[in-house]
Amino acid sequence: MFTEKEEKQWLRHLIPLPQEISIRDAVRLHPREVGIRVRAQPGGPVQQGAAELEELFAAKTGAVPAGRGFEIVLGIAAAQGEVDTRRLQELPNKEQAYLIHPRGRNRLVLTGLSEKGVYYAARTLYQLLEPALSPEQVSIPLAEVVDWPDMEERGLWNFPDPKTWIPALAALKLNYGKMASTEVKRIERGQQNRAFIDRELYQEARQRAFNYLPYILHLNFLHEYGLFRAYPELAGKGEGALAGRYFAHKQGDQHRVPCAANPLLAQILAEWMADIATQGADEVSCWLSERPAQCGCASCTAAGQFVLEARAFVAAWQAVRRHYSDFRIRLFLSTTTSERYYKILAELPAQVKIERACATELERVLHLPRDLLANPLLDHYSSQGRWIASYDVPLGAPHPGFCRAIAQAPVQGRLWHAGLGCQSHGDLRVQYPRPGRVVLEPARPQRGGIRHSLGDPPGLWRSRGSGGMGPAHGAGGIRRVRF
Ligand SMILES: [Zn+2]
Repeated sequence: MFTEKEEKQWLRHLIPLPQEISIRDAVRLHPREVGIRVRAQPGGPVQQGAAELEELFAAKTGAVPAGRGFEIVLGIAAAQGEVDTRRLQELPNKEQAYLIHPRGRNRLVLTGLSEKGVYYAARTLYQLLEPALSPEQVSIPLAEVVDWPDMEERGLWNFPDPKTWIPALAALKLNYGKMASTEVKRIERGQQNRAFIDRELYQEARQRAFNYLPYILHLNFLHEYGLFRAYPELAGKGEGALAGRYFAHKQGDQHRVPCAANPLLAQILAEWMADIATQGADEVSCWLSERPAQCGCASCTAAGQFVLEARAFVAAWQAVRRHYSDFRIRLFLSTTTSERYYKILAELPAQVKIERACATELERVLHLPRDLLANPLLDHYSSQGRWIASYDVPLGAPHPGFCRAIAQAPVQGRLWHAGLGCQSHGDLRVQYPRPGRVVLEPARPQRGGIRHSLGDPPGLWRSRGSGGMGPAHGAGGIRRVRF
């Protein structure tokens, strides 16, 4: 028989812990007795989950799991007639829910309503088997599991090395990551506009039930692709259209926003979206301008820059949906401006999702045991069922060592930061919520510009600031970082 203590020890290997799990018994077998069977089409998450289990099995036991003494069977509910799956229909986020169910003492059934669910079942079993496999003996828990995620989407906005991180995130049942980059072809007047995504990694991620989501860059960056040279009429009018220079991007025309009232903008966006759709993606994240700015023409002034940018994306999406009816968009609201977001939210079609990031210090409310991140406008819409994602919890908060591993320059001293982000260009951004100081030693004195990045005195980043440490922030010019 199986004791509660044994069960508890086994459960300690699970991250995240399933919503409902009990292990009342286990079987001990020789590795050659165990077989893994798949009831699914090739190429999807079910087969991926089975392949990951087979790899683990082979690595730990040296045997191929093709035995007949004990079967682990994976397949969606429709293919798994032997188990009652009605419970799954009632669960939140049911397309990601799954069951693990023993049939007697010689079979374990892993099933879900969709392939995503079955993949998660495989990952739970993977974690349970990992400590229990050896060349001599295999222990298989006869686990009863019913599991589902509380949140539909879980993941990271910026993260390093997607090729290794996506499998690692998916193994923890995280299912979202912002694509590292979308390549936009230089804009030429009268020519088709092209945007290229990382198709290979997108498909690989999808097999792991992971949405590696492409995006269309902040509209105030489009001059970098020749937008205003090709179409001068799209340049936002007047001084107010300048969104300002970033310390990290010292050239260019100060990030002029486009005149979003001109229907030509929506047409260009539609061409990019359609191109992304033809590459197999069914969704794209659409980034509004990142900082406050306003085209000075009469139409833009009346409606508001950000309202018109949102409308341009929606118009582009509606055009693309004539050919790709399942194609979806989500709108990325910049956190450095809240200009007329109330208007955007009021008029946005219900299917369009909303996302935002990096508002940690703006909207943090002290609360025990964990601070709240509160925004009355977004919280209101969220309570009405609007799909809103926020990427405000810094990845590095519990893991300063991570910064040390990624920083381009040697790091000395104790890291007092609360978070980091901006991995999209191999970059690292660190936030400092507590008193402390950071001294950057530039490789060459003329590269000292980076030290002004926070508006602090040269050479000093102080509490409640943030600063970049990667190539996009000029970290190639830093010799050493001292905390
Ligand atoms: Zn305008």
